Amino acid sequence: MARLPVRLRGLATIAVAGLVLACSSIPGAVAQPSAFDAWLEGVKRDAAAAGISETTIETALAGLAPIERVLELDRKQPEFTRTFWAYLDRAVSARRIERGRRMLAKHRALLERVRGKYNVQPRYLVAFWGLESDFGRYTGGYSVIGALATLAYDERRGAFFRAQLIDALRILDQGHIALANMQGSWAGAMGQLQFMPSTFTSYAVDFDGDGRRDIWTDLPDVFASAAHYLSSIGWRGDEIWGREVRLPAGFDWELARLKMRKPIMEWRRLGVRRADGSELPRADISGAIVLPAGHKGPAFLIYGNFDKIMNWNRSLLYAIAIGHLSDRIAGRSPLLAARPAQEKPLSRAQVEEMQSLLVDLGFDPGAPDGVVGSKTRDALRAFQRQAKMAPDGYPTPELLAGLRQVATARSKTN
Ligand code: CA
Repeated sequence: MARLPVRLRGLATIAVAGLVLACSSIPGAVAQPSAFDAWLEGVKRDAAAAGISETTIETALAGLAPIERVLELDRKQPEFTRTFWAYLDRAVSARRIERGRRMLAKHRALLERVRGKYNVQPRYLVAFWGLESDFGRYTGGYSVIGALATLAYDERRGAFFRAQLIDALRILDQGHIALANMQGSWAGAMGQLQFMPSTFTSYAVDFDGDGRRDIWTDLPDVFASAAHYLSSIGWRGDEIWGREVRLPAGFDWELARLKMRKPIMEWRRLGVRRADGSELPRADISGAIVLPAGHKGPAFLIYGNFDKIMNWNRSLLYAIAIGHLSDRIAGRSPLLAARPAQEKPLSRAQVEEMQSLLVDLGFDPGAPDGVVGSKTRDALRAFQRQAKMAPDGYPTPELLAGLRQVATARSKTN
């Protein structure tokens, strides 16, 4: 939940020069009410109208100024796309698996009580905990109010963060956490499971009954809040997230799509097996095949709970990491797919070139922005079909080379 919706992140390049001017102060000069202060007065009026006490508003917003570092982080764009194995190795490291197993054993009784109420299996709660804050060790050192005010004042996603700021003030007003302890990520995600304030408002739970919903330090509240969120969006306590599978020779890559749901019996009929080669279970559920590293990488059959993980964080790699970490914490085996000798990540510039070439060749990958989204994947599939390549929609340096070749040949004949 820490991460912002992917699409919002893509907008992070527009400069807001006005903000720098607004918060720079000249030593010795007579203090002028800045544009930020004027804006903050509006926030105060909104907060009061939302029923938040004047004491909370004045205390929490006193002396506030935009945090430069938050804006820097918000504008930062990764130079390279993340490859599957690089992501997985980091997210599901041996150290994290080991720690997760110890945490599962240590907090077993509490986690079972939480399962009793919300029907979410303990190993998933521990996996979310591990990925979000490394089991509570890194919850972010930013003032949540300061970070949210900075992003709310920034015009690009002002409305979203302004609403989060009001919710954060409400949380303070209700006494769940003291102002000084209300810390979080640069984007305002709070506590050991990195809830945004609006998620807190809707789903945080006082499971230990001390009168405060404390997702920073009360582990019962941390686990129960996550479980409450998951169960509210439809998590199934009697189903797994998915599993690694083996696809038959001649598998139709067009079927490997997140939205292509089929009953498990249909996948069996198509020759899909468990990764170890044994039959898929005879279960009455539907799933989709996903190929996070393209057709040469591992294949997964994912079920309904996978969508719930993606509700938490809209990243396919994150969702697979949660599922796999939960498996490893529960003692299941590593992935069986062969690892490539080396994975070559694509740079943003290369992705952008790929998108421009697709446009030149008459495909529609969306506006070239260096980010691989579903439109780019669909356009890549269309190109691969035309070029008689395996249509997996997965961008690689080889595919970029293929695109360049076709584009060059095309320009020579025209
Ligand atoms: Ca509590």
